Amino acid sequence: MSIQDEFQFINKVRPSYLHNSTIKVGIGDDGAVYETSSEYDQVVCQDSMVEGIHFTTKTMSAYDIGYKCLAVNLSDIAAMGAIPKYCLVSIAIPKHWAEQELSALYDGLKELANQYKVDVIGGDTTSSMSGLFLSVTVIGVVEKGRAILRQTAQPGDVVFVTGTLGDSAAGLNILLESVKDTYSKDEEFLIHRHQRPVPQIGIGRKLVHFERACLNDISDGLASELHEIAESSQVSIRINRDKIPLSRPIQNFDESKKWTWALTGGEDFELVGSLPPSDYELFKQQCEREGVHISDIGSVLPKGEHSVLILEEGKEHPLQKGGYNHFKK
Ligand code: ADP
Ligand code: MG
Repeated sequence: MSIQDEFQFINKVRPSYLHNSTIKVGIGDDGAVYETSSEYDQVVCQDSMVEGIHFTTKTMSAYDIGYKCLAVNLSDIAAMGAIPKYCLVSIAIPKHWAEQELSALYDGLKELANQYKVDVIGGDTTSSMSGLFLSVTVIGVVEKGRAILRQTAQPGDVVFVTGTLGDSAAGLNILLESVKDTYSKDEEFLIHRHQRPVPQIGIGRKLVHFERACLNDISDGLASELHEIAESSQVSIRINRDKIPLSRPIQNFDESKKWTWALTGGEDFELVGSLPPSDYELFKQQCEREGVHISDIGSVLPKGEHSVLILEEGKEHPLQKGGYNHFKK
């Protein structure tokens, strides 16, 4: 069997029934949610990084790899509105890796773990016959019944994103085009956005206190994440391309590149979600007070087919998924 589409594959392996009635959310959101006997539900997510697929040693230092593998997991925890608590780290190490590099990888991971008060409580270590493989599992908690899901968008909601989009893809492009000793300030900004994404935990936490919100993190690209929300919530979404927030350094690239990166580049690790219009301004003010910019990029449409539309240069057309898919030829 050859795998054509990771999403189809995941659907195939999805169990047809669950043994534990404590599970509130299984496969299909940024993290799984299950009930505990306390006033908190637990949220668990896992993401891996594979050499040659997610990074090469040219684009990421050992420190960056450790940092980013925890950051992408914390981004999923953020998208559930949870507080990260514990993590497990599984690593397969190629023979040629020096102990010093491994220490640097753990230093990167620990920097972020300390910042968010996450404890490393276990993992697994093996050798690898090919590249480095790193997998992190994070366990977090959220107030009972308050996890923020993808399936809760409703017609009339404002669709928002945090930060700016496309920077990570632009940074990766710079790294892949040429390896230089020094980069311009703008190039450094974009490269940093690729190597050291900032998980938006604080924003997820704010949304928990609103009556209803929908949330997803942007790992595969805005277009792909909007489709996930539309499918899960059974709604359509319309966004306006001119409202998508771009950083100043990405403006150095031509129109086609910057919009492709912002819509489908992926690895932004910003959040995209929706809120009732009556809550949006308060949410935006709360975030901006903490230095996180929020942009209203569109709205959720009355129920119909579950599509995503984009208004671009005065014309509206369907926005294709187009994000990164591991098995598309
Ligand atoms: P995200 O981009 O938010 O990390 P993914 O697209 O990787 O999410 O995964 C989508 C859903 O499928 C998640 O709920 C994830 O836990 C689940 N999933 C991914 N791979 C597998 C697998 N091999 N077996 C079971 N569930 C999986
Ligand atoms: Mg996610």
